[in-house]
Amino acid sequence: MNHTPSPAELKLKQNISLLRAVIESTNDGILVVNTDGKIVCYNQKFISIWRIPMDIIETRDDERALSYVLQQLKEPDAFLAKVHDLYKRPLSESFDVLEFKDGRIVERYSKPHCIDEECVGRVWSFRDITKQESAINDLRAYQESLERQILERTEEIRKAKVFVDSIIENIPDMISVKEAAGLKFLRLNRAGEELWGHSQEEMIGKDGYDFLSREQADAFTAMDRAVLSSGKVMDIPEETLDGGSRGERVLHTKKIPIYDGDGNPEYLLSISEDITEKIQAEKNRIRLMEEQISRIALEETLRLRDEFISIASHELKTPLTTLLIQVQLIHKLVEQATIIGISKEKLLSMLNTSIRQVDRFTSLINNLLDTSSISAKGLTLHRQDTDLRKIIGDVLNRFQAELSSVGSSLEVHVLDHIIGQWDRARIDQVVVNLLSNAMKYGEGKPIEISTESTPTVARIVVVDHGMGISRKDQERIFDRFERVGSVQGIAGMGLGLYITRQIVEAHGGTISVVSEPGNGSKFTVELPLHGAHRGDVTPRAYGDAPVLH
Ligand code: ADP
Repeated sequence: MNHTPSPAELKLKQNISLLRAVIESTNDGILVVNTDGKIVCYNQKFISIWRIPMDIIETRDDERALSYVLQQLKEPDAFLAKVHDLYKRPLSESFDVLEFKDGRIVERYSKPHCIDEECVGRVWSFRDITKQESAINDLRAYQESLERQILERTEEIRKAKVFVDSIIENIPDMISVKEAAGLKFLRLNRAGEELWGHSQEEMIGKDGYDFLSREQADAFTAMDRAVLSSGKVMDIPEETLDGGSRGERVLHTKKIPIYDGDGNPEYLLSISEDITEKIQAEKNRIRLMEEQISRIALEETLRLRDEFISIASHELKTPLTTLLIQVQLIHKLVEQATIIGISKEKLLSMLNTSIRQVDRFTSLINNLLDTSSISAKGLTLHRQDTDLRKIIGDVLNRFQAELSSVGSSLEVHVLDHIIGQWDRARIDQVVVNLLSNAMKYGEGKPIEISTESTPTVARIVVVDHGMGISRKDQERIFDRFERVGSVQGIAGMGLGLYITRQIVEAHGGTISVVSEPGNGSKFTVELPLHGAHRGDVTPRAYGDAPVLH
């Protein structure tokens, strides 16, 4: 027979089904046990946490269920003791954490079940927190590893700082760092302490005004500011710093601006090398070098003087000896003239030879005098209208006898009327020197003398076909006492071309040579025709060569 439920029964049924749904919907395992130890209620989650077989749970016997679950726990005795303890104190609440042998962690919470203030049982709830626990453990492990890394990093940074510090401290150059805003010292190494004569402790946080004169501090500050605003490294090759007890020091400094990420000046780094000793050593080196140079110059002067004396005595003695022999011979012949009937022509020829020797002697003496006077006071020209053709004609007349004695033929191509404002006697000397060299070194071969003219210059060209001059010697022959090639037995002191060049250059002209050993030489003198002359030579212009005393 069908029973039709009353409204109260329906209401109860609804409530029970609602309760069931609520209990099943929670994520916690729920177990309700009455005071007789009977299981009143449980949900599926409870079964799945404890993995209790249905035949056991269906007995509704809490003790059986307990003894079944015990084997799953790591500490079953403590678990059981707590359960029994709570059943003895029905009104108390509990909370603990259970550890399963398979690694799960479950929170256990219990509350008394009371109806109208009468305790009828106990409600247990179980929450599997294995995942949260493992997440927490992971987090904890991660935190520990982070802490370890931080410690390692801190140690690395500490070591790096010690390393950098030891380098900065041991660098022999001064290193200082100032903050850009107030230019106060932030850092100074040991070399800096020595240079400033103050300890790091004394200097950090202070600026130049605390240690320098106002003037010097102003100058340093201005430079620092200039570096910071220019953004460029400033190199100061030499600056002085009053280094306290060590006195004034000379520094080579580099100032380097350092900027923050936004491009604003943050620090000013200065690196200074103490070059006081280096500069002193350099000065000593220069002084020693100067002393050495003047010693060498003095030695060179003495050598030149000795050479001069030996050349001069030899060269002066030769014509004098010849002259003496000639004069003694003439004297003897004149004494015996009537006896041996010597002719007038013979005597005149002998006298001419003597006169040539006197001329040679005079020319040597003149060369010596000219050289020393050019060295001492330069060359003074007496300019007047001078006709080159006339001068060359005069010289050739004077040298006729000598030309025939050396055996060279002479070809002359001299233009009419080349007239310039020159010193006649000196131009005569130029022609004499070039012609006598052509005779001396021309090996008896033909000689040519010619003149040329352009609108601005007059040219005298003397060509011989004798021994010639090697290229490397060609510049040297215009210096004093320079003789080159095989000149033994050929009279000369190495002064003729030197004086010639002085004369030509004093007129504003030039002298040059084109020559080849064995093929003769061509000397060309150019003299300006109008105005353009260098003027008289001052002694200073020749001061580069050592002066003979
Ligand atoms: P000196 O003839 O008195 O030695 P110079 O100053 O006139 O002095 O000449 C310097 C040197 O130049 C000579 O000693 C000689 O070696 C060389 N020299 C000059 N002229 C000639 C020349 N025409 N041919 C070859 N060598 C020459």
